[in-house]
Amino acid sequence: MTIDFTATQLATRAIHAGQEPDPVTGAVVPPLYLTSTYKQDGVGNLRKGYDYTRSGNPTRDSFDAQLAAIEGGRYALAFSSGLAAIDVLLRSTLKPGDRILLGDDVYGGTYRLLSKVFVPWGIGLDVVDVSNIDAVKEAFEDSDYAVIWVETPSNPMLRVTDIEAVSALAHAHGVRVVVDNTFASPVLQHPLELGADDVVYSTTKYIGGHSDVVGGAIVTNDEATRDAVAFLQNSAGAVPAPFDSWLQTRGLKTLELRVRRHSANALAVAEHLATLPEVERVLYPGLESHPGHDIAARQMHGGFGGVVSVQLAAGREAALKFAESTEIFTLAESLGGVESLIEHPAAMTHASVAGTTLQVPDNLIRLSVGIENADDLIADLDQALERTK
Ligand SMILES: *Cc1c(COP(=O)(O)O)cnc(C)c1O
Repeated sequence: MTIDFTATQLATRAIHAGQEPDPVTGAVVPPLYLTSTYKQDGVGNLRKGYDYTRSGNPTRDSFDAQLAAIEGGRYALAFSSGLAAIDVLLRSTLKPGDRILLGDDVYGGTYRLLSKVFVPWGIGLDVVDVSNIDAVKEAFEDSDYAVIWVETPSNPMLRVTDIEAVSALAHAHGVRVVVDNTFASPVLQHPLELGADDVVYSTTKYIGGHSDVVGGAIVTNDEATRDAVAFLQNSAGAVPAPFDSWLQTRGLKTLELRVRRHSANALAVAEHLATLPEVERVLYPGLESHPGHDIAARQMHGGFGGVVSVQLAAGREAALKFAESTEIFTLAESLGGVESLIEHPAAMTHASVAGTTLQVPDNLIRLSVGIENADDLIADLDQALERTK
């Protein structure tokens, strides 16, 4: 029996889409196909279309099908990293002479790729606060853009952009809308339903979910984009290894449970931090005091994600000391794994944007709140803050 996934909820799709038991042995978990090539039954006579793993691999296909079903998108394509996915999507949708409008708070590597690689190849780059719809409108009136790039919630300032409003405005100007949905994950936010054209993920984060694999993905409903992306993926070769695809398939099965717990823990941590005098500002869309809270409450479902940023009243040195003083939170880059992490963006993840319009405050600390016990996490942050004095 094949399940009609359109009639099922996300948690069901996550477990079953693309995960049919092995037809040969009945193994409930589809096999991990560790092979680079496939026996042909005659010259060019391929079994199920497979000839070489760069072009196609059943384990990768199983992950693609599962992700597309969870996202509610027609096509998903997996890559060897989030940046590999971003690179291929940009090269598939932009040509020299085109301009892109980028949010002014994005993953540092996205800005580095655009400013250091794409700009020298002839792409125009402008940066605005895309969470401010008037600023977006003004930019669209001033210049012609091929693409607007939105991260919401954004990294690391947790700004919230109204995807529906930006998409309507962009489409009225003939601009394509890409949403980096890494922070929300496909559990909390569905940009395609809100009008976005393409979605990208660093699957390294919540989708993999266990800090043991690097990967990326593109999801789209547009067949022409899917074809262009698949062509460049095969031509340039940034595909995930079968084992990496298998790990991400396993991660997706528990994504909903994990993201709900990440979100609940993050809200508890944010609410607690907001009561402390050492904390100048807590940035978390789940707090009613957050300027994007109402939009986030409308476009995110079941939580506001696991990332919380804080600015410390005592400044940079106190922030560095805080990041070095936790015992359960591990001092490390990245986010979205089961374990809690702490980092100083200005010196770590966002060091590459220092001196640009994307520079982040140096009293800022980013927390990736894991799925440990929330009281233990809060106690750890309290003792670390005590040591900054
Ligand atoms: C990590 C991250 C990326 C880059 O993904 P990699 O898997 O590290 O290449 C892109 N966007 C966001 C929002 C990220 O957090």
